[in-house]
Amino acid sequence: MTPTRVRFAPSPTGSLHVGSARTALLNWLFARSTGGSLLLRFDDTDAGRSDAALEAAIIEDLTWLGLDWDDGPVHQSERIERYAEVLAELPVTRRDGAYEFEGRVIARADGSPLYHLATAVDDVDDAITHVLRGRDHLSNTELQVAIIRAIGAQPPEYVHAPLLVFEDGAKVSKRKGDRATVGALCEEGFLPAAVCNALALSLADFGTDEVMLNLAEMAERFDLARLHSADSQFDDTKLRWVSGEHIRAISDEQ
Ligand code: GLU
Repeated sequence: MTPTRVRFAPSPTGSLHVGSARTALLNWLFARSTGGSLLLRFDDTDAGRSDAALEAAIIEDLTWLGLDWDDGPVHQSERIERYAEVLAELPVTRRDGAYEFEGRVIARADGSPLYHLATAVDDVDDAITHVLRGRDHLSNTELQVAIIRAIGAQPPEYVHAPLLVFEDGAKVSKRKGDRATVGALCEEGFLPAAVCNALALSLADFGTDEVMLNLAEMAERFDLARLHSADSQFDDTKLRWVSGEHIRAISDEQ
């Protein structure tokens, strides 16, 4: 069997949000539990909004969480020629100056790629076996699969995880926007192990009543078939509770 290969592909246009961190964790857990590999890829085709400082901060946040990767970081901005090559092969139509494929814009008038084109091409060229991402990307899959088939390649398997949602009301407005970032949780003093643990519990059932699990234990128990089917609420109460368990478990010295 081909070893599994997944990617975490953030756009360096903002700080690492807890929702994205959870996608990174999903990919990490899958790669580690299947003996596969994880690629870190920056989806930075939007030159105007991509920022090297934000990219460095994302790397710092992933490292703080304890999530490592096997390959990369690679950058879509370094593969513009490859996307142009593929664009020239696709049965596209020109409309309002842009390039359309199956009725959706995949490249700008100057031929520079948009998300769907770059992602489809990379998922093939990077030999990705499973695309694991949030349900918010479900509507993108058909088009990406169509691009992949049009270039004569085999699409990866797609799994869309339910989302992390924020409860309404005063308490969570605290966690909305800038406060829903990994950086904010770090600044507030949460332990990275507790953040990963809380995010993982919101993502999947680990087949145990034990709540406190470290990354290695979670990787050992992780099973893609046991992802929760409903969206999960992420709130301060749960996070503080998991965090309390972790803090009680560490030694005074630590
Ligand atoms: N750069 C995209 C995002 O951050 C990646 C989506 C995908 O996994 O295809 O939403």
